[in-house]
Amino acid sequence: METRVFTENTAENIEAAAAIIRAGGLLGIPTETVYGLGANALNADAVLHIFEAKGRPQDNPLIIHVPDETWLERYCHDVPETAYTLAAAFWPGPLTMILPRKPIVPLRTTGGLETVGVRCPNHPVTLAVIQAAGVPVAAPSGNLSGRPSPTSASDMLEDMDGRIDAIFDGGPSGVGVESSVIDLTVTPPRLLRAGGLPLEALQSILGEVIVDKCITEPVAPGEKPKAPGMKYRHYAPKAPVTVICGGAAASAAYIRAHAQPGDGVICFSEFAASFPAQRVHDLGPVDNKLAQAQRVFDALRTFDATDVPRIFAQCPDEAGLGLAVANRLKKAAGFDVVTV
Ligand code: AMP
Ligand code: MG
Repeated sequence: METRVFTENTAENIEAAAAIIRAGGLLGIPTETVYGLGANALNADAVLHIFEAKGRPQDNPLIIHVPDETWLERYCHDVPETAYTLAAAFWPGPLTMILPRKPIVPLRTTGGLETVGVRCPNHPVTLAVIQAAGVPVAAPSGNLSGRPSPTSASDMLEDMDGRIDAIFDGGPSGVGVESSVIDLTVTPPRLLRAGGLPLEALQSILGEVIVDKCITEPVAPGEKPKAPGMKYRHYAPKAPVTVICGGAAASAAYIRAHAQPGDGVICFSEFAASFPAQRVHDLGPVDNKLAQAQRVFDALRTFDATDVPRIFAQCPDEAGLGLAVANRLKKAAGFDVVTV
């Protein structure tokens, strides 16, 4: 199929994009986290096409996207008061809430689970498309399964050109990592995926939050993580990655001592000039976690277009967005982590 590209946020383009969703088609949608591969969440056939286009395992549930919290009751039951408090504080934004599913949401969308992940994305184009379509849009990240998530329309087209009906180019994603996923069906609430909303922000409203260990440790063979997606190897570039945790000066020194000429290095801006014999991708300043989140997938994708035999990455500390950036790097490394 030929993939249409919408670029201007006009009423006509929004209506054309919404018509694709209503007709059961596939639409690339811009969000503040990463680009998504969207379809009508209530249409099991359309949802099946998402899994096929991505090559995604069918037990890996999709997040459904809504325009505001008033839609929660349509698709979820037993919505706790805290869901509305979180929505008031953080929606639209990079937060997905796991809640009990109403039967109107097909099991195909939820990967067979009795719960559903719901999020309100902070992007004017996508909010307008969902409103115009009148249905929630199920959307995983718009990459082929196992590839880094796309943070621009051109990244997404690399993976999806010819596989989807259209994509709406809404500019580069402002946050750059996927949403934080919080399970509100358990007490205390459990963070299943570190993402664009820092843990500290969730704790400020929820108090105690359990951080699922799949965020910081590898999933053991045969283990069943709470967020099924966490068991799949993600974001993996072709070359093996080693992540170096610890102080920035110490991790840079470790990489200087171990990297061979021609290796790839993902490092903080302050150290970009320290590796003249290596191919460097600047992750952003040590103290700018937002820049690091925006650049981390681009760094991993960029190296795939090269023949670097090995990649070393400096890891930020886990405060704020650092938890999500560190998690994406460690997953790319298959949890090959050195602490200095
Ligand atoms: P993606 O769609 O690629 O952003 O991935 C969505 C993430 O949210 C995956 O890790 C899923 O496993 C997780 N997720 C979505 N829905 C649920 C749910 N109902 N229960 C637990 N995890 C979920
Ligand atoms: Mg994904």
